[in-house]
Amino acid sequence: MLQVFSMPCGFLEFDTTLFFPNREKGKKFIIPVPSYLITHPKGNVVFDTGVHCQAIEDPMARLGEISRMFVSHTKPGEEIVTQLSKFQLAPKDVKYVINSHFHFDHCGGNEFFPDSTIFVQKNEMHAARDRELRKKALFDPKDFDHKLHYQEVDGELDIFGDGSLVIIPTHGHTPGHQSLCVRVTKGTEVVLTGDACYTKANMDEDLLPSVAYDEAEMYRSLGKLRDLRDKQGATIIYGHDPDQWKEIPHAPNALA
Ligand SMILES: [Zn+2]
Repeated sequence: MLQVFSMPCGFLEFDTTLFFPNREKGKKFIIPVPSYLITHPKGNVVFDTGVHCQAIEDPMARLGEISRMFVSHTKPGEEIVTQLSKFQLAPKDVKYVINSHFHFDHCGGNEFFPDSTIFVQKNEMHAARDRELRKKALFDPKDFDHKLHYQEVDGELDIFGDGSLVIIPTHGHTPGHQSLCVRVTKGTEVVLTGDACYTKANMDEDLLPSVAYDEAEMYRSLGKLRDLRDKQGATIIYGHDPDQWKEIPHAPNALA
């Protein structure tokens, strides 16, 4: 049976303006860092791998300068491998990993998945390989540059060919950001946005966060996701929305 589980992989505290540039500076905002497990009859799938476990103890040592922008509230055990173990799963039991993008809080755990196929957009990988582009996109090779089985995706991909898990391109936040549409049952669709939309407020106010590689592209992606919500009735799971996070079920309970 296809099920979706949200796994809490830590919390980070940022200045509110990183998410909402139109608000007053100096107010703190604590956000969840989620990963998702999708159980499909043909194999387990993980959407995003969170922050690397070394960053829990010493964010500066692992993440460098970028860690000056936030305070980590992540506790030991709140990382992808431990979260999966609660399902009696090890990384080798995960057939596919999907990276929404290559920021540290979405692909930090990639190195623990040497046996999985990891889907990433072609544009994202192209930027990751280029010294200048990856600097601009705020990528750190420590997170993704390991002996792993990356499979580049160019646009949409129906992973199992049955319409149940479809990667959709939502570029802009980074060069090749992607989201995931999960058709849980006929007529019930859940969309994991990743950072194409941090929170419901960003979608409702058509407001981009401070981190946007290509603003025009990110506006287009945000509009596409809004249409899925407002015109097609999909349930949107925002990338880092603390209010929604309080309301949705978390593992071991299924989100959908
Ligand atoms: Zn990001």
